[in-house]
Amino acid sequence: MTEKHRVVVLLSGGLDSAVNLHMAKEKASPMLCLTFDYGQRAARREIEAARRLSKHYGVKHRVIKLDWLKRLTSAPIVRRGARLPHPEEDELDDIEGAARETARLVWVPNRNAVFINIAAAFAEAMDCDGVVVGFNAEEGATFPDNSREFLKAANDALRYSTLKGVKVICYTSRMKKTGIIRLAKRQGVPLNLVWYCYEGGRVPCRRCESCVRFERALRQSNCWNWYRELCKR
Ligand SMILES: [Zn+2]
Repeated sequence: MTEKHRVVVLLSGGLDSAVNLHMAKEKASPMLCLTFDYGQRAARREIEAARRLSKHYGVKHRVIKLDWLKRLTSAPIVRRGARLPHPEEDELDDIEGAARETARLVWVPNRNAVFINIAAAFAEAMDCDGVVVGFNAEEGATFPDNSREFLKAANDALRYSTLKGVKVICYTSRMKKTGIIRLAKRQGVPLNLVWYCYEGGRVPCRRCESCVRFERALRQSNCWNWYRELCKR
């Protein structure tokens, strides 16, 4: 039997990262989950969710504070009280319009590349072969640092910047949110532990782009009832 690859998992505590952690547990050996606190509005909620998910899967969890990253931007994603867009469902696929507007307002300079490189440093130091990230095709269309092209480019760079050629792995980069939710249901991923809202309130706001995408995907995949039952536990 071939030995499973040891990996570090980037865990924001959201849907995509939770499903990727689950898949990493199935297909590899996750040695560490990393969550970044860069002052995002939902930081506290995301860290709680990531902690619960790491515990559920029995993987060590570590939070890395990136205060300097927060100070580099004035985007509403890190400024509590600033306006975040509340798109209608039919605007979500308007890549030139509403989706791009949200992308601009939640953009943090070089965020995913910074995250991947920090995780790759941990991976190399811990004798791991890979870094697992939670991308999806839906957001890959508007966020260039969520795209498959970026995934390939990050892999190309890590071949040179790490001695052992740490790889970036994503199990969902070709999937839309609906497919990711279906996969979560099939695999029994505890989505009740996930935090999917850009805001950091007591409950998800149900109006930000991330909430609207999550709820649309639940409905389109006929998984509302399953999710509701999960949340009652
Ligand atoms: Zn929300």
